[in-house]
Amino acid sequence: MTPEEFRTEALLLVDWVADHRARIPDLPVAAQVAPGSVRAALPMSAPEAPEEIADVLADLERIVVPGITQTQHPAFFGWFPSNASLASLLGDIASGGVAALGITWQSAPALTEVEQVVTDWLRDLCGLAPQWRGAIQDTASTGTLVAMLAARERAGEHSQEGGGMQAVPAPLVAYTSPQAHSSVPKAVLLAGFGRDNLRFIDVDPVTYAMRPEALAEAMAADVAAGRRPAVVVAAVGSTGTCAMDPVAEIVRIARSHGAWVHVDAAMAGSAMLLPEMRHLFAGVDEADSLVWNPHKWLGTILDCSLLYVRDVDHLIRCMSTTPSYLRSAVDDEVVQFKDWGIPLGRRFRALKLWFHLRLEGAEAIRSRLRRDLANARWLADQVAAEPDWRVLAPVDLQTVCVRHEPGGMTGEGLDRHTLDWAEAINASGRAFVSPSQLDGRWMVRVSIGAEATERADVAAMWELMKESAGAC
Ligand SMILES: *Cc1c(COP(=O)(O)O)cnc(C)c1O
Repeated sequence: MTPEEFRTEALLLVDWVADHRARIPDLPVAAQVAPGSVRAALPMSAPEAPEEIADVLADLERIVVPGITQTQHPAFFGWFPSNASLASLLGDIASGGVAALGITWQSAPALTEVEQVVTDWLRDLCGLAPQWRGAIQDTASTGTLVAMLAARERAGEHSQEGGGMQAVPAPLVAYTSPQAHSSVPKAVLLAGFGRDNLRFIDVDPVTYAMRPEALAEAMAADVAAGRRPAVVVAAVGSTGTCAMDPVAEIVRIARSHGAWVHVDAAMAGSAMLLPEMRHLFAGVDEADSLVWNPHKWLGTILDCSLLYVRDVDHLIRCMSTTPSYLRSAVDDEVVQFKDWGIPLGRRFRALKLWFHLRLEGAEAIRSRLRRDLANARWLADQVAAEPDWRVLAPVDLQTVCVRHEPGGMTGEGLDRHTLDWAEAINASGRAFVSPSQLDGRWMVRVSIGAEATERADVAAMWELMKESAGAC
């Protein structure tokens, strides 16, 4: 394809995207396809001869769009806000356009240095201490794995340079909340700690936040048994209820054992942009590493996750490998992001953050986040005031966990009722929620914060909830 052909075809695609985004409110929210049906609609083998862009776009419309749950829909209240702002999409297109090879500073100095600038911008917008250094990772899952490897190497005194974990005298132990995201146990296991050395610490029965006393007890018991507390992962905005683990107290306890503290604020991190919400993040500045995802509530299109560390030299010692063909004369003066994570070749993800922030400005983003917080509080108030309905966890941010508990319904009958009305909402195509278990019982999470969601959409959702639960 020549640049001139690209110009013609890209303009068609951009038109298509603009039309598509404009009609999303008219689409069903949940993907309405049966398993295998998208695959069955596509040819079994790749074309030998070039096809027309019009045909490709027609299939995009006919086959692909119905196979997508519309997270940009104003009635999307599922898993977490997965906003893909159009400003950041422009940055993503620009990233492909400049076609940078991000393997070393030399291969694309601008890729490295724009990334340094935007990670510093975000750090400052979040009111975090200037000691933090950030790098963009693909996802929080990767960022948390990198943090677990760094924590392991600190507790194991760089055992990877010798006999590895197999040579560490005392087993290393990791601690987290049972409410933590599944990426946390996954990272702990991938980092080689072993399931026997992963502790899920009790949470408070009302707030679902980790109980510091329980953490202190578990760490003391491990030390008494000859094990070494190595890392605590604090869930700051847990996945089930958006609970906020008390980081300041966790840091104090972890420090007394020399353990690393990693903060997983993948969903909730956006709220650090709001000075009035920062009390929920007290102590984060004292942690060792922090991950949060602009690709969720903030609205920078997937994939864009930030990993911050305070001791970057330690991270580099864990991650660097420098074969002769990647060395250069300026290595001492520049940042080599390949040594801050796992991949060698990195995309120019900084451009989507750069475009997003420059084209929208921080103040508009803050107002949108405040709108969502107010909408969540409004919904929680409606639910709490309605007989037979219950708000199950504190609504600190934008997640409202609810249950409809009509007179006398308990146990498995109540579970069936909850799943039925949630399924009725999703099947209607009018809105989307994700049911989830809390204390062994099903509940419905209403996760507010799609870019398009206004108060009227939340009010319509509340009517739909009452209607669906009433009919089940
Ligand atoms: C979404 C989420 C993750 C996982 O994020 P990915 O970027 O998809 O890996 C981890 N932790 C929390 C708290 C989350 O909300």
